[in-house]
Amino acid sequence: MKRITDELDSPKKQFGTGWISGTLGLFLAVLGFATVLCFCFPQILTVDQARDFYANNIGWIRILLHVVLIAAFLLGITNVILRDQKTLGFVTLLLVLSASLMGGSKASSVLDGSSDLYLGLDFFMLNLILLGAIFIPIERLLKKVDQPILRYEWREDLFYFFVSTLFVQTLTYLSLNPSLTVLAATEWASGIRSAIASQPLWLQFLEIMFLTDLVQYWVHRVFHQIPWLWRFHAVHHSAQAMDWLAGSRMHIAEVILLRAFTTLPMYVMGFAEGPLYAYIFFVYLLSVFIHSNIRIPFGWMRYIIATPRFHHWHHGVEKEAIDVNFAIHFPVIDMVFGTFHLPGNRWPDGYGIHGHPVPKGFWRQFLYPFVRDKTNVDETNAEE
Ligand SMILES: [Zn+2]
Ligand SMILES: [Zn+2]
Repeated sequence: MKRITDELDSPKKQFGTGWISGTLGLFLAVLGFATVLCFCFPQILTVDQARDFYANNIGWIRILLHVVLIAAFLLGITNVILRDQKTLGFVTLLLVLSASLMGGSKASSVLDGSSDLYLGLDFFMLNLILLGAIFIPIERLLKKVDQPILRYEWREDLFYFFVSTLFVQTLTYLSLNPSLTVLAATEWASGIRSAIASQPLWLQFLEIMFLTDLVQYWVHRVFHQIPWLWRFHAVHHSAQAMDWLAGSRMHIAEVILLRAFTTLPMYVMGFAEGPLYAYIFFVYLLSVFIHSNIRIPFGWMRYIIATPRFHHWHHGVEKEAIDVNFAIHFPVIDMVFGTFHLPGNRWPDGYGIHGHPVPKGFWRQFLYPFVRDKTNVDETNAEE
C-alpha cells in the first residue's frame, strides 16, 4: 500500500514517465473490479432503489465494464513498459486479472435472495465519476490555487467521500429518524402540511433552502462555540487544501447530527416530494461547489448565494476568518446575524486551523473528539 501511495504522490509525473498511465490504469482497474464485485453481490453492495435501473440497462453497463477493463489492462502494460518503479502497473494488472477471474463483464450474482441492509459501492463510484467529470475540468480551467488533482491529503478526503457514500443507507436512516419521530407525533398538523405542500413548487424549493440554511447556520455556529462540539467540527476545518473533494471531510457524528437537524424543517413541515428531492440534489452540488478550487467573479450575485470565495473565508487560517460565514446557501443570514465577511476581492491566505491541532488520517480524526491530550486541550476555535 505504501508503495502505491508513494508512486501516486511521486514528483515524476510528466508525460512519458508512465505515471499518467499507471494512475489512470489503477483508477479504471479499481472501478472495474468494484463493478464486478457489485455484479457478484448486488444485494449487499448496491443501493436498493437503483437496482431496477441497472436491470433495465444491463447490456450497456456490461459493454462499458468490458471497455473499462480492457483500457485498464492496456494502461497497466504501458506503465510497466515506461516506468522504472512498476508498482502501479502490476497492481492494475492484478486487479484486472482478478476481475476477469470473477467473470469480468459477464459476472453474475452469486447470492440468492435479498438483504435489507446494503452498502452503496455503486453510489460511491457513480458520485465520484459524475462529480469528478463536472468539477475536475472546471477546477483546471478556473483554478484559484495551482495544485495537482492529487493534491495535499487527497487520500484522506477521498476516504471520507468513500465512507459517506458507502454507508449511505445507515447515514440516511440515522439522520431521518428524528424527523420521522416528530412527524408521527404531530399527526394533528397534517392540515397545515397539506397546505404547505400545495404551494407552487418553486416557492417550496426556496422555502426549504431558506429554512434548512437558517437551522444549519445555528447548528453550525453552536459547533464552533461549544469546545466539545468544536472538536468534531474541527475535523472539517482541518483541510489545508480546498477543492471539490475537501467538503467530504467531516466527522461521521457531525454528518448525522447536522443532517438530522437540517432535515427536520424539510420533513416536518410537509413539503412535497418534488421540491424536496430537487433541494437534496441541488444542495449536494452547491456544497461541493463552495469548497471547490474555482475562482469565478460573481458580481452582485455573491451577496445572494454562497460562492467558493464566501465559504473559503469560513475555512481561512488567518485571524480575520475565524467564526465568519456560517451559512451555506444564503450569505444574507450571516449579514443579519453579524458574521458576514467577504473583503473586496481578497481570498484567505491559507486554509485550516491555526497551529493545525487536528491529527492526520481518518481514524485518528475519528477519535480526536474523544481523546484529550495535553497539546490539544485548549485548541478551540473560539479561543484563537
Ligand atoms: Zn465551520
Ligand atoms: Zn466547509
